[in-house]
Amino acid sequence: MPVNGLGQYDDGNVFARILRGEIPCKRVYEDEFALAFHDIAPQAPLHVLVIPKTRYVSLADFSTGASEAEIAGFWRAVTTVAKQLELETPGYRVLTNMGPNSGQEVPHFHVHIFGGKPLGHMLVRT
Ligand code: AMP
Repeated sequence: MPVNGLGQYDDGNVFARILRGEIPCKRVYEDEFALAFHDIAPQAPLHVLVIPKTRYVSLADFSTGASEAEIAGFWRAVTTVAKQLELETPGYRVLTNMGPNSGQEVPHFHVHIFGGKPLGHMLVRT
């Protein structure tokens, strides 16, 4: 059982379907470890998702179960995508939601890259 509150990996999740080519995405980058594509509901001028090509439900699951090559390749892909989007100089934000309290909607590990404007406070203050 993966190490979080999300249960077993579900092959029907939307990112698994994108990886299998069953539904389209606006791809920005792909290599052997990762696929990056535009978020369908962007929350910044640039909002891209980076997902590993392997089946992990969350950051905790990925960190526990993935090989060192997968982990290194994935995180290298995240920074490669940001560089490709010309976000390195102006800066950007990387975020991952992990488990129920974070509001994680899609149970396939992914990180969000936000950029394209000053991003303000890290969290909405309540
Ligand atoms: P999270 O809440 O961290 O699980 O984020 C899931 C993200 O996936 C949200 O920002 C959604 O807008 C995005 N999303 C859901 N379905 C799709 C899709 N078919 N293509 C691109 N992004 C999607």
